[in-house]
Amino acid sequence: MISFPLGTYPTPVERLSRLEREGVRTALWVKRDDLTHPDYGGNKVRKLEHVLKEATARKVKRLVTVGAVGSHHVLATTLFGGRAGLAVEAVLVPQPGTAHAERNLRADLALGLGAHAAPHVALAPFATLAVWGFEHETMFIPMGGSNALGALGYVDAAHELAAQVRRGELPRPDLVVVTVGSGGTAAGLAAGFAKAELDVPILGVAVATPVFAVRLIVHRLVSKVAVEIGADPRHARGLLSIASEYLGGGYGVPTPAGEAAMRAARDDAGLGLDPTYTAKTFAAALDVAATGRYSNVLYWHTLSSAPLEPLLVSAPLASEVPAHLRSLLR
Ligand SMILES: *Cc1c(COP(=O)(O)O)cnc(C)c1O
Repeated sequence: MISFPLGTYPTPVERLSRLEREGVRTALWVKRDDLTHPDYGGNKVRKLEHVLKEATARKVKRLVTVGAVGSHHVLATTLFGGRAGLAVEAVLVPQPGTAHAERNLRADLALGLGAHAAPHVALAPFATLAVWGFEHETMFIPMGGSNALGALGYVDAAHELAAQVRRGELPRPDLVVVTVGSGGTAAGLAAGFAKAELDVPILGVAVATPVFAVRLIVHRLVSKVAVEIGADPRHARGLLSIASEYLGGGYGVPTPAGEAAMRAARDDAGLGLDPTYTAKTFAAALDVAATGRYSNVLYWHTLSSAPLEPLLVSAPLASEVPAHLRSLLR
């Protein structure tokens, strides 16, 4: 069984002094959402808070979701959905076959995920509808957990940050830098900042394509969530801008700037980043901090730092993963 909140809050805020440029007045901060849960952290824990609460209240028996074969969202949903006593199934689509993605898939299988392969992302909607089947004891969770319910977890996070500012744990940031994949994280923060009257602009760093669609989806989600929580949707939308110049070759494709940011974070802050999401975002945070235009820049860290080994104890070896799933690692 699980109880709510699922995660451990508030997550700490820390200053990354060693990554600040000499002669530049900007202080660089990090919000440690890698620490949302000791077994598996990152932003997906917050997104599952309201989703799993609703699933429990509605007494559904099964969760169906969709994601890349090494998806953090699918892994978090399998882990915490399973602990909530729910069967979890997912339609998986191809992604670059990194060791990280392969380990996530093996952890999924160890945790009992019902995995279905869609050999091309364009087939995912059909496969998902087939698996979901509109059964009323099944709850469908979109990619990344980014529906309005999921984003509410980041409305809570916005209030949490506002309280940390009030307590003096950090000055009010002039800019928050966060990854935009499916957009629930950034959308929830924008709506939440509007509601909490914490007027902080957000730089969302797009890591998925096509960026015009990402912008459209995220802005609609901001509006929807803002209306739901009684914040001004136009004000909330105005807080969020989405940058496309850190994307490089596309989703899951590493960039040189990201790789450099990853090394800097590891060597100077002991912060582990991943090439798909956080490396690109941290590269953007370092760039804006280096301009000296801001007094305080807050990088919102979204990657779990919990060791994956405990989840891999009973996992199949890479060679034992069924071929139709292994072939999604490209
Ligand atoms: C899923 C994920 C994101 C993207 O969050 P969205 O809410 O989908 O935009 C960012 N960072 C990491 C590490 C993630 O796993």
